[in-house]
Amino acid sequence: MQGDGLAAEEPVNEAAGGPGGGQPSGGQRLADKATALQLFAFFTLAALLALLAQAGLVNQTLKNQQIQYRSEIETLREQVRQMNERVEQLQRQHPNRNGVITENVPEKKTAYLTFDDGPSENTLAVLNILARYQVKATFFVNGNPTDFGRAAYRRIAQEGHALGNHTYSHLYRKVYASIESFMEDVRRLDDLIAEATGIRPDILRFPGGSNNLVSPGRGFMIALSQRVVEAGYQYFDWNVDSLDASKATPDRAVIVNAVARQSAGQKAVIVLFHDSPAKKTTVEALPAIIERLQHEGYGFDVLSKSAYAVKFL
Ligand SMILES: [Zn+2]
Repeated sequence: MQGDGLAAEEPVNEAAGGPGGGQPSGGQRLADKATALQLFAFFTLAALLALLAQAGLVNQTLKNQQIQYRSEIETLREQVRQMNERVEQLQRQHPNRNGVITENVPEKKTAYLTFDDGPSENTLAVLNILARYQVKATFFVNGNPTDFGRAAYRRIAQEGHALGNHTYSHLYRKVYASIESFMEDVRRLDDLIAEATGIRPDILRFPGGSNNLVSPGRGFMIALSQRVVEAGYQYFDWNVDSLDASKATPDRAVIVNAVARQSAGQKAVIVLFHDSPAKKTTVEALPAIIERLQHEGYGFDVLSKSAYAVKFL
């Protein structure tokens, strides 16, 4: 009972707690919940605002990058425009850079037979065949100061063919040593031909052609071809290669077929032959080639400054 008494004296203090301690009252709990909600709302809002701010920043960064890229694109566009302008400028200076240039295309189907590297005994044989067919051709000759050479130049001119300059020496190392060296070699041959025939050539063919791979390079040949034109010459390459220089003495049939194949469907042809001492099969192929071209409807003419021209440069 004592225990009961003591227990009875003690105040029942199970739910009241003391001021500032123990369990909150029902009202306080509600207030705490409201505060928690407010805090939650506040932090959520803050987080949202932070997210929005971040999104805004990201957006701004993207915008800045976009502006930067646009400016880079503009710079690149400008560079491309400048490069295109430069290419066009170069093309104007060298319109034939990427291909063969042709000038003065004749109205009628015309074949221009050309013979390089003479005169030799083969030159006389070629002249006999041309006379037989009454066909005129062009001879791009080299220097031969002997009586035979001078007589050959004279015969070429007297029989109505054209004489072209193919340099006096035809020595690649010498003629392509410099522009001056080339011009000097050309003048030396002009002097000899003028002395022998009274005619000073104004047409020319570069040894190896204007696109030869033995000169110091394409830039050199462009400069040299301009110089040659300034000096009053027209220069000629070809659009039909008889392949008579593909080896020392190719079969006659190789030469005939090469000309037939390459001239098919062409309006005008400048045919490259050689009349140097080894070219016996060129002489043998010539009658069949002339007959074939005649059968295809070609007339024949000589090259001149105002004639049809094919140039690689
Ligand atoms: Zn030659």
